[in-house]
Amino acid sequence: MFGFTPERVDLSTLSCNLVHMTVTSPLTSHSVLHGVPVVPGVQYAPVIRPGKLPDVDNDAEGEIAEEKRAAEGERFTAAAAAVAERLRERAAHATGAASEVLAATATLATDRGWLGAAEKRIRDGAPAVRAVNGAIDQFVEMFTKLGGLMAERVTDLRDIRDRVVAELKGLPEPGVPVPDEPSILCAEDLAPADTAGLDPELVVALATTLGGPTSHTAIIARQLGIPCVVAVAGLDDVPAGTMVLVDGTRGTVTVSPDEGPAREAVAEAKRVAEAAANWSGPGTTADGHAVAVLANVQDGAAARSARQTPAEGVGLFRTELCFLNTDTEPTVDEQATIYAEVLDAFAGNKVVIRTLDAGSDKPLKFAGHPDEANPALGVRGIRIAANNPGLLANQLEAIAKAAERSGNPPWVMAPMIATAEEAKNFADKARSHGLTPGVMIEVPAAALLADRILEHVDFLSIGTNDLAQYTMAADRMSAELATLTDPWQPAVLALVAMTVKAGAAVGKPVGVCGEAAADPLLACVLTGFGVTSLSAAAAAVQGVGAKLAQVTLQQCRDAAEAVLGTASAAEGRAAALAVLG
Ligand code: PEP
Ligand code: MG
Repeated sequence: MFGFTPERVDLSTLSCNLVHMTVTSPLTSHSVLHGVPVVPGVQYAPVIRPGKLPDVDNDAEGEIAEEKRAAEGERFTAAAAAVAERLRERAAHATGAASEVLAATATLATDRGWLGAAEKRIRDGAPAVRAVNGAIDQFVEMFTKLGGLMAERVTDLRDIRDRVVAELKGLPEPGVPVPDEPSILCAEDLAPADTAGLDPELVVALATTLGGPTSHTAIIARQLGIPCVVAVAGLDDVPAGTMVLVDGTRGTVTVSPDEGPAREAVAEAKRVAEAAANWSGPGTTADGHAVAVLANVQDGAAARSARQTPAEGVGLFRTELCFLNTDTEPTVDEQATIYAEVLDAFAGNKVVIRTLDAGSDKPLKFAGHPDEANPALGVRGIRIAANNPGLLANQLEAIAKAAERSGNPPWVMAPMIATAEEAKNFADKARSHGLTPGVMIEVPAAALLADRILEHVDFLSIGTNDLAQYTMAADRMSAELATLTDPWQPAVLALVAMTVKAGAAVGKPVGVCGEAAADPLLACVLTGFGVTSLSAAAAAVQGVGAKLAQVTLQQCRDAAEAVLGTASAAEGRAAALAVLG
């Protein structure tokens, strides 16, 4: 449960989201606070904040006399049981993820680990409140040290502590007030039990100072379908009652914005969402120019869920994400089973399988990575095959086997190609397995010599995430350098345009499968360059398709030309907006 789950934590999306993690201070009207966008949408409403938490002061009460310790223990057991029972009752009345979250919190409330730790403290003379506080602190520390998803469960533990302490002190249960008008719930972090009971008609958006994209707050916000931004720096200074504009797409909270433009932003976001929800594919511009809109997936489950969208196929299957927790190289048969799941999910449709892009931020235990000072510039992607040719040979064999089993022949592509020779070697190997070979263009050298690479392969797919990283010499995981790794950087787009032109000259398909393809406006610009497909996270497919359907090919071309004439990412965006609306 607490392992890496790429379905929920997409590395590229995450690094892209970090673009916005900057702080604006001091806090004034119109201040824009930045965080991590979790659920898209825009809302404008007054802030509400959760009720006061009970005082959990450790030293308020002294020692419990020996003869009273058993009674104190019983008082504690009853309080913990009452809290768990109330949570279970609420779980029974809730549905879906809300019910699961409440049930999980109830289970944690009855967990023998922390209950036992608290009971021991009471037996040693601690009053129940202090015992609860100490026991929970002990587990919070342990979860925090474990990090990752475990650390995000710390909020659940603190929530249980507050409820049990309130019960022990005879205070009302802490939690979110029920507002009498649509409001935006802002908090340091939200207790899962509180977010699970929210009414989306009254709590129309969420923003928190803490929390990650996989926190319960985020999960519940997704289920409720209300905009949500987490890790918002400076949010604690925004008092209840303040009007704020939450933008769950950009990851911003604007404090006391002008009312007219704020309401217009909400209306516009609603129009965009409605258009996206109604778009059912296939990808074309308003005047009928076809551009395949595809999905990026990482396993069979993601492919099956992408199949529920209008995605016309898979433009990027990141195979390395299937094996992040695998110690030894999976057998050809095991691999074939995994790959066939994706091919089956999109039976009869295009599927592009990328061979292992191991290394850098995605090391694989069985890939034999050398110890390197700078792994992003080291032995990653296709370079692994030089020292470990068996790995690539086995994978190609597995892909061919999966193709045979599923009856859906995929295209295959290699990551991190830098030279025409690497492309040729890969293409020869893929063809020897009866597969259609292509390569990713993620290294500037490959974009510059795309025409020579195209002499050897049947298609290209541009990875704008790495192309931006290597063009701008800026780590894609660095929040500080996020403006440099913005795919709107004109230098990056110039290389994209050059690559697409090389493909068009020889009539071979060139797609984009980096995050650039998930940005509806930029997707139109890429269409103007002449890309033949756009492949994005499944959640972005409808937004991209809907935007494309609203503009003509000529508009896309005009926007592309305008963008290429700019000198910064911001100017490029503005130029595209001026043409495409
Ligand atoms: C890219 O670099 O744009 C890409 C699609 O590959 P990844 O994000 O998996 O490195
Ligand atoms: Mg890449």
